[in-house]
Amino acid sequence: MSQKYILSCNQCAYSSVFKIGRSSDQDAWQIKIKDQILSNHFGEETKLFLENHPDVKINAFWAVYTCPSCGRIRQRVRMRMQSGEKTFAYRNYCDDCGARMAQVSDILHVHCPSCKQPLKVESI
Ligand SMILES: [Zn+2]
Ligand SMILES: [Zn+2]
Repeated sequence: MSQKYILSCNQCAYSSVFKIGRSSDQDAWQIKIKDQILSNHFGEETKLFLENHPDVKINAFWAVYTCPSCGRIRQRVRMRMQSGEKTFAYRNYCDDCGARMAQVSDILHVHCPSCKQPLKVESI
């Protein structure tokens, strides 16, 4: 199951909702992700892997990523595909500056993208 969080800043107007975890309907989620991969939502490399390995098992869940370069916080899918011995790990890049984003390991310790203050976290 996924869990939703509101992250908000005491210093500025920043506030955003994120979800973390797995979809409760894994079968529907797998089909949806495969569709998105084939329509190039996850980039050319990811699409090629799926086309070459149509039997893949996809391990995916919602995660929060931050950009080490510009500080943006984004809702992204963490995804790994496996086909026999071959695995493919999808990498998330920042929409704004192109840097490789890092998964947030602890949602309680995230900083405001605007003013860098620690954000207040509430689960909903
Ligand atoms: Zn702020
Ligand atoms: Zn960035």
